[in-house]
Amino acid sequence: MVDASGERVADVVVRGGLVAEVGPDLAVPRGATVLEADGCLVSPGLVDLHTHLRQPGAEDSETVETGARAAALGGFTAVVAMPNTDPPVDSAAVALEVLALGEGAMCRVAVAGAITMGRAGERLAPMGELASLGVRLFTDDGTGVQDGAVMRRALEYARGFDVTLAQHCEDEALARGGHMHEGEWSSRLGVPGIPAEAEEMMVARDIALTRLTGGRMHFLHLSTARSAALVAAAKAEGLAVTAEVTPHHLTLTHAELAGYDPVFKVNPPLRVQADVAALRAACGDGTLDAVATDHAPHAPERKDDTLDAAPPGMLGLQTALPVVLGALCGSAGNGAGGDGGGRHAAPRHGAPAMTRAAVLGLLSWRPARIAGLARDQGGDQGGPIEPGAPGNICVIDPAATWEVDPVRLASRSRNTPWAGRAMTGQVRHTLFRGEPVVVDAEAQR
Ligand SMILES: [Zn+2]
Repeated sequence: MVDASGERVADVVVRGGLVAEVGPDLAVPRGATVLEADGCLVSPGLVDLHTHLRQPGAEDSETVETGARAAALGGFTAVVAMPNTDPPVDSAAVALEVLALGEGAMCRVAVAGAITMGRAGERLAPMGELASLGVRLFTDDGTGVQDGAVMRRALEYARGFDVTLAQHCEDEALARGGHMHEGEWSSRLGVPGIPAEAEEMMVARDIALTRLTGGRMHFLHLSTARSAALVAAAKAEGLAVTAEVTPHHLTLTHAELAGYDPVFKVNPPLRVQADVAALRAACGDGTLDAVATDHAPHAPERKDDTLDAAPPGMLGLQTALPVVLGALCGSAGNGAGGDGGGRHAAPRHGAPAMTRAAVLGLLSWRPARIAGLARDQGGDQGGPIEPGAPGNICVIDPAATWEVDPVRLASRSRNTPWAGRAMTGQVRHTLFRGEPVVVDAEAQR
């Protein structure tokens, strides 16, 4: 068993939706269902801060139901649904619609609200009304709030509701027209690029605005070494900032675009090897608080297009855990850890491998806190696994190997960058509110 206090050997009894007993060699209660977990890690359920569920508006790409099933199969017991739906989550009515869709889902579906009406970057959304429905994170994700004065007002407004703003850091003027990282490969391929500075300028600006307002800011999907360094400096200064990184930015580089395959088109774009190394180090030294998937399904008829026409984004929920364990713990075998395939990131140099507990912290109890879903915040996520805790648990076989087949993923879309690659580490069981929703890596409904 593993949670914030580390690893230990134990049995876990779950009854009536709650953890009832934890300890070595417990007797099996009469009539109980036994889920084998020999050699497995029993962890608090994973929590994804950044999931695009596409409903309402793009149900051909994903629905709350299919996205939540993919999440459960990936070990997640909660996801935060991004508000860039159609219509966007900039009103109580749309937030209530998504929350209602999440009621019967296979994991908890929390909802992020938009910072501005229509995500247009001008007028503030009704944060107080949304906060009263339980919305804890606000973001215009998909785009960043471009106008510094609007972001300042949003930070000041958010303080009154004890909610967190989450920024997609991208200066639109600098990024416009780009389809991949601006660098050696974009030059070689003749593809317009997005410079690292398009992200870093907004990270720097928003750190300044956090200082100015005393507000709280979460940085979404950071992708460069200098972004991480800016966050480290802001934390050293005592500012209330947190930051996440995606599994793909911890593993893949812009060289993946060599074949013009749009499956590797993502925003922010895949960067260079030195960025991958720095982001891994920033996970280990506490600069980065969470790994979040940025699960971004796109129906094949749109994603299977030319590199310039295809929308950015890739699936993440069902592959995050093995990819991240491979990248940060150095567990063998994953394409994610570097398998000599040549084009993706090599194994880390220098920085020591993280413990499995520390890596699961990035995927579970630390994001749970940022999302406002931790138990001492009134939520039900992130452990610890102890009597009385909600039965939100995932059981991971760290040695199991499997190959990613896009057709077999639960998502309605197929745009995984890991198609055909071997993974080491698999979610064997997921319990959501005590119900085994995934057993032996199969969804139960
Ligand atoms: Zn984004």
